[in-house]
Amino acid sequence: MILELAGVARHFGGVKAVDGVDLALRQGELLGLIGPNGSGKTTLIDLVSGFQRPDRGTIVFAGRPVAGWQPHRLAAAGLARTFQRVRLFGALSVLDNVLVGMHGRTGGGDLGRLLGLPGARASARERAGEARALLERVGLTGVESRPASSLAYGQQRRLEIARALALSPRLLLLDEPVAGMNPAEVGKLSTLFSELNAEGLTMILVEHHLRLVVEVCTRVVVLNYGRKIADGWAAAVLEDPVVAEAYLGKAGASEVL
Ligand code: ADP
Ligand code: MG
Repeated sequence: MILELAGVARHFGGVKAVDGVDLALRQGELLGLIGPNGSGKTTLIDLVSGFQRPDRGTIVFAGRPVAGWQPHRLAAAGLARTFQRVRLFGALSVLDNVLVGMHGRTGGGDLGRLLGLPGARASARERAGEARALLERVGLTGVESRPASSLAYGQQRRLEIARALALSPRLLLLDEPVAGMNPAEVGKLSTLFSELNAEGLTMILVEHHLRLVVEVCTRVVVLNYGRKIADGWAAAVLEDPVVAEAYLGKAGASEVL
């Protein structure tokens, strides 16, 4: 298992945002994480990536207990994420935003340079070349010197994905990556996620867009009021009446897809 959560909880005052979640993720999986608004998806991603500290429970990443670790330490251990609300360095160029992402890599930084680790040895030119390749991969070409803040919303979201990939992560957490995108953009990202997974990248995809989840994820976990109410094969989970009632209301999955 690359990630194992046991009894993880995070409460805000009286709100049980995450309320005792167990979750195990195998290396190479692409897991869909769904649930109604306010069901705790983002809080769970925050807990795994160190942006929140659990009130209780254990989180094991790549064999080490990591609950309470700071985000940069988790990043150096190979955990990358994107944000539901885009967080970029708006005044920096598109290319520099990706280069900043590379900086968090294991082997980067002064210690890595002293030890001569591969990430640190790469020349500025090599790193820029790699950053350009990542931008091309997410469909952002011809904009590398523009300030990130000047990009359209869908482009900013794709830049976040490139920045997260720049870390060469072992686990990538995506928090509603296609929100606000048009169907053509969604289609391209769907292909990208499937390709990345086929190349061996382990991912958790938090998504409202159920068609995307069904397309790219084999396994789906459903949260409701901070609790896990379903975990299994995507098609079976979406047919589950408990899920249909909690997540989809009376409409049922078929009408949302
Ligand atoms: P989701 O991503 O599934 O929409 P969230 O994890 O954002 O759900 O939120 C889960 C619940 O926790 C919601 O009721 C939300 O209002 C609450 N919540 C999330 N973050 C905070 C916070 N920092 N302070 C107080 N309440 C929060
Ligand atoms: Mg959210």
